Amino acid sequence: MDLGIRGKKALVCAASKGLGLGCAAALAEAGVDLVMNARGAEALEAAAADLRARFGVSITTVAADITSEAGRAEVLAAAGPVDILVTNAGGPPPGVWSDWTRDDFIKALDANMLTPIALMTALLPGMIDRGWGRVVNITSQSVKAPIPQLGLSNAARTGLTGYVAGTARQVAQHGVNINNLLPGIHDTARAEALDSGVSKSQGVSMEEARKQRQATIPTRHYGAQGDFGAACAFLCSQQAKFIVGQNLLVDGGATNATI
Ligand code: NAP
Repeated sequence: MDLGIRGKKALVCAASKGLGLGCAAALAEAGVDLVMNARGAEALEAAAADLRARFGVSITTVAADITSEAGRAEVLAAAGPVDILVTNAGGPPPGVWSDWTRDDFIKALDANMLTPIALMTALLPGMIDRGWGRVVNITSQSVKAPIPQLGLSNAARTGLTGYVAGTARQVAQHGVNINNLLPGIHDTARAEALDSGVSKSQGVSMEEARKQRQATIPTRHYGAQGDFGAACAFLCSQQAKFIVGQNLLVDGGATNATI
């Protein structure tokens, strides 16, 4: 399907690996020029070189911490005006409710709520002026159904979801659509880290931890970053112009809910 966004420019944050890279690749395949960000320069340059070679789009890279004010300023200055924004950052660590301090919450809120909000605050005015824009926030299935050991993530991402619900409905009249993509378990470094936690805490092998987790997913397998990216590119397409303020689960049916 032609997504109708060839020649547009997207900023994809936290995009050297995993779900962010999946989104960058799908947008590049649709002919979108990219600004890609991650902290580590080496993996970022390698990912950008691969996408340039495969899809022939123009790509600017910015190695910076997107959750810091200085990092965001650097990324925004290099990006200039963009048509599409994909927000993403690493997720907070797992733990137990009784251990989390105010500082832990501030860190999680900064990374997974206030960073995407700051990026939208900076980039929405330009999209509104130009009469077209798309924002996709990578959040988590934990927004729909809490994951107990990821309380920091549950809290921060739900806050972002509330912000998007109201803001999306204010900017839609200008041709700017904001939606959230809610990943379930995908085959990325993050999934490996979570499985490693289970493996250590329960004294089981990594294979057993993965098998146990796969058994909880109706598809019985982890998601692929390419499939996640395809969902992102669709939300950024011309065809998605009537989709506003939604929270789309990409979780293999793992969230057991009727709606
Ligand atoms: P991943 O495979 O670990 O990749 C994370 C990417 O983000 C890397 O490119 C990393 O590069 C970059 N990054 C991390 N922190 C950054 C920062 N502060 N500034 C800039 N770039 C940063 O993670 P993932 O699995 O794709 O997960 C992406 C998001 O989805 C996370 O928030 C995660 O919690 C959430 N999520 C993932 C799953 C899953 O199953 N994978 C499920 C639900 C939710 P550098 O380290 O070089 O910066």
